[in-house]
Amino acid sequence: MPHRTENDPHKFRRRGVLFVLSSPSGAGKSTIARKLLAADPFLEMSVSYTTRPMRPGEQDGVDYNFVDLDRFREMVTNNEFLEWAHVFDHRYGTPRETVNAILASGRDVLFDIDWQGAQQLFQLAGGDVVRVFILPPSLKVLHERLINRGTDSVEVIDGRMSRANNEVSHWDGYDYVLVNDEVEQCYESVHTILKAERLRRSRQTGLIGFIRGLNK
Ligand code: 5GP
Repeated sequence: MPHRTENDPHKFRRRGVLFVLSSPSGAGKSTIARKLLAADPFLEMSVSYTTRPMRPGEQDGVDYNFVDLDRFREMVTNNEFLEWAHVFDHRYGTPRETVNAILASGRDVLFDIDWQGAQQLFQLAGGDVVRVFILPPSLKVLHERLINRGTDSVEVIDGRMSRANNEVSHWDGYDYVLVNDEVEQCYESVHTILKAERLRRSRQTGLIGFIRGLNK
């Protein structure tokens, strides 16, 4: 039985939400994810494993679990990932155990994964996934954001820009699509989606008992 606290807005036991946030890199997804996690105690991040090198300012175990290729392959062999994919010449995977632990604690899971991960998770969960795609206001703005972020070389940025076009082409594999031209507004909209999805009848497995009790 999922754990509930006094401040939990959800009166009834319910199935956890698998909440996927995807976007071309630089569209503001990380900022939105951070804001959601800070504001919502019932949401927890699935911290992925990756073989890509750590960027300045990143922390192992917080932004990603950074591992080498041998370790990653071993985890694939041991079936430790719910899904994994090649993105920008590196591998990224969602740890099965972490996700199960978050759901067992009664919380919802936030995934910062690409369209391949969203697709795999959707199939695995029989469609019971909420998929949100964030678009930049334009590809020109995206380019400027990547340069201003100052964490990637020109070659990496060029590679990310060519990938961005490809990622945007998968927008129709999502349930919700938002344009991030104002980050606060975009964050509010994403949070509203999460709150509404929590109240879906199909997720509120504890509601049946309540409805039966109404007639007594
Ligand atoms: P970055 O290297 O910029 O942190 O992430 C590159 C891309 O990999 C982003 O689009 C991010 O959403 C995606 N990504 C991160 N973790 C995972 C994962 O576990 N699985 C998949 N499929 N994609 C991931």
